[in-house]
Amino acid sequence: MATARIYLHDDQQLTTTSVVTAVAPGMFATAASPFFVGGGGQPADVGWVDDVTITGISVDEHDQVWHHSPAQVAIGQSVVLTIDAHHRTIVSRYHTALHILNTLALQHYHAWLTGAAITTTYGRIDVAVPQLDASMIADLQTSMNAVITANHAVRSYAIAAAEFDQRPDLLRTINVAPPVYHGQIRVVEIVGFDAQACGGTHVRQTRDIGTCEIYKTENKGRQNKRLYVRFDAH
Ligand SMILES: [Zn+2]
Repeated sequence: MATARIYLHDDQQLTTTSVVTAVAPGMFATAASPFFVGGGGQPADVGWVDDVTITGISVDEHDQVWHHSPAQVAIGQSVVLTIDAHHRTIVSRYHTALHILNTLALQHYHAWLTGAAITTTYGRIDVAVPQLDASMIADLQTSMNAVITANHAVRSYAIAAAEFDQRPDLLRTINVAPPVYHGQIRVVEIVGFDAQACGGTHVRQTRDIGTCEIYKTENKGRQNKRLYVRFDAH
C-alpha cells in the first residue's frame, strides 16, 4: 500500500500519527508519513518513531515509505512519527537558497543548473557556465541576499505533466527530467520572483533563509562550475 507523503502538500507538518502497514528487518512502513524521502540533492529527513530514532528513509516499487529504525512495531499499530525539526529546517533553508541562486545564475548568466547537494553545513549547485569570476560571484551573492531580505512568500502546488510540457520556464535543469509523481509535477514558487519544478521542502518565506554567502567555488570542468553557499555568520 502506497504511503501518503504529507510533505508534498504540507512541508511544515513535522509530526503525524499513522498506522504501521508493513514491517521488515530494521524498518517499517506506514499509511502516511511526513518524512521527506530524499531527492534532488536534498537528504531524507531523520527523526523518531515514538521515542526511537529513525535514521533513514527508503521507498519501494509500491511507493511505500520505509522508515529505518530499531523500533519494534507491529502491523496495525498506531505510531507517532516526528521529524527532527532542526535538520529539516536547515536543509529547507539551504534548499530554498539554492532556488534563488540557480534562478539568478540563469537570469544573469544563462547558466543552467546541472546538479545540487544540500547538507546541514552548506548547500551547493553546479551550473553550466564557461567562466565564473569574482564580480559574477559578488553579483550573485548580493542579488541572492536582496531576494532573501525582500521576504517573498514561498508556496507549492502540483500541475499535470501535460501542462508542465507547456511551461519550459519551470525547468532549471537540462540534463535531469523533473520528478513526476502520480502524473503530476510539483511546482515551488517564490512569489514574485520564480517558479520551478521541485519535489523538496522549503521555508515559508525567503527571510526565513537568513543571509547567505557564496564562500567557495570550484571548477568542475570547462563548462561546469560549483558554488557553495552557507549562512552568513555576520
Ligand atoms: Zn526545491
